[in-house]
Amino acid sequence: MSENKKVRVRFAPSPTGGLHLGGVRTVLFNYLFARQQGGDFILRIEDTDQSRYVDGAEQYIFDCLEWCGLIPDESAKVGGPFAPYRQSERKSTYRQYAEQLVQDGYAYYAFDSTSELEAQRSQFPNFRYGHENRHLLNNSLNLSAAEVASRLQQNIPHVIRIKIPVDDTVTFTDLIRGEVSFDTNLVDDKVLLKADGMPTYHLAVVVDDYLMKISHAFRGEEWLPSAPIHILLWEYLGWKADMPKWVHLPLILKPEGNGKLSKRDGDRLGFPVYAMNWTDPKSGDITRGFREMGFLPEAFINMLALLGWNDGTEQEIFTMDELIAKFSIDRVSRSGAKFDFEKAKWFNHEYIKKADTASLKPQILSILKEKQIEIADNYYLDKVIAIVKDRLTFLQDFWEQSSFFFQQPVEYDLNSVKPKWSDVKTDFFNSLIGIFAGLQNASSAELEAQFKKLAEEKAIKVGEVMLPFRIMLVGGKFGPAVFDIAQLIGLQETTKRIETALKAFTG
Ligand code: GLU
Repeated sequence: MSENKKVRVRFAPSPTGGLHLGGVRTVLFNYLFARQQGGDFILRIEDTDQSRYVDGAEQYIFDCLEWCGLIPDESAKVGGPFAPYRQSERKSTYRQYAEQLVQDGYAYYAFDSTSELEAQRSQFPNFRYGHENRHLLNNSLNLSAAEVASRLQQNIPHVIRIKIPVDDTVTFTDLIRGEVSFDTNLVDDKVLLKADGMPTYHLAVVVDDYLMKISHAFRGEEWLPSAPIHILLWEYLGWKADMPKWVHLPLILKPEGNGKLSKRDGDRLGFPVYAMNWTDPKSGDITRGFREMGFLPEAFINMLALLGWNDGTEQEIFTMDELIAKFSIDRVSRSGAKFDFEKAKWFNHEYIKKADTASLKPQILSILKEKQIEIADNYYLDKVIAIVKDRLTFLQDFWEQSSFFFQQPVEYDLNSVKPKWSDVKTDFFNSLIGIFAGLQNASSAELEAQFKKLAEEKAIKVGEVMLPFRIMLVGGKFGPAVFDIAQLIGLQETTKRIETALKAFTG
């Protein structure tokens, strides 16, 4: 690759289902690198495997990227100078390259029928089409030129396979792993062009990375075993000088650390692995996503950035701009990153805490609407959000943490008050109603002072009436500072709640 080649990176998903968080991290690293280097970020849909195509999956990928704020510069949606960006629409592009490889002796036609291949597989359980057996199989390496020409003319179904060299080593540099080598004897003769005329992933990815002038190919480590095939293709097609730099990202591991985090682990351990809810179009089954679980996209992104990367300091909270400025391939680790859901929740909590009220409001309003709460006073809602947000891990916790700001408690934690109730306490609260009735616009500090003064007068320990007071206003032993609650809901509402609760506590 010439050194001054413009940075152009791509995310190249196959639309086969939900988008795994590892996929979103690949998008993120592509995006950060492109933004930092003033390059282009391309989304290319790799949909050449018709048997794996799933309806709705492409739109879902676009939606996920939009939710994350990782918008491609070029894609099937917005177009671009290298359109089309959907491989199924580029079908006619690939055959010529496969044919060229055959002509140059780097690939061959294989006419083996499905039943012939099945027979091989049942005879040799470890059957791999390759250097050990290709001279015995039904392909153009063994047939006469005339026979091959006649079969092609008759349109006899065939594929084109790469001819992997024998006793050779493919070596390349990965920007994370350094020099990586593969023994070609362990690589099989992969199909490049299928009988339906569609390219396989291997051919299409190389042709498109070349035609789209990709400078750096970021992808998950699970693609490393395919790399020797791709490197050989770059070489055989005569494009080696333009080959992108390889960046194989470390796996995201199960929380226990053994093996790649799968959707099944999420189901087993009760957390999402997909960015957004994914509905299987056939079964209708819904796999839940980070978005629907209540993650803010900024928190999700920040959490992903640190799965396999850090800036060398203890810093954990990064804005997108900071990530763009600080990201570096050198600091991506080689070893897998264990996924820690508690840590993911921590990020979300931190982001909700620091979010400004206005940005949380639309979602909070929809939560309130679901609960049939009409908000007449926006100022009041702002105050509630400000006081409650420190206590939320997810926005969905909002109702649980704040319902008492919008309605009287539906039930009381009577077990915490009734056994220790006394006439002295009834008297205290009746007097408190009187005192509160005489106050106007009191601050929470003043309410607290009055409360404590009354306790002293009545010779009752503050601690003994504080918890009942909270339960009167909130229903249970939770929520923000109780005098802040009283101040916010107002003294009229506070006294009303004391009266209602007294009946329940003493009844
Ligand atoms: N289509 C491959 C995938 O589904 C892309 C791998 C690559 O980036 O080369 O992930």
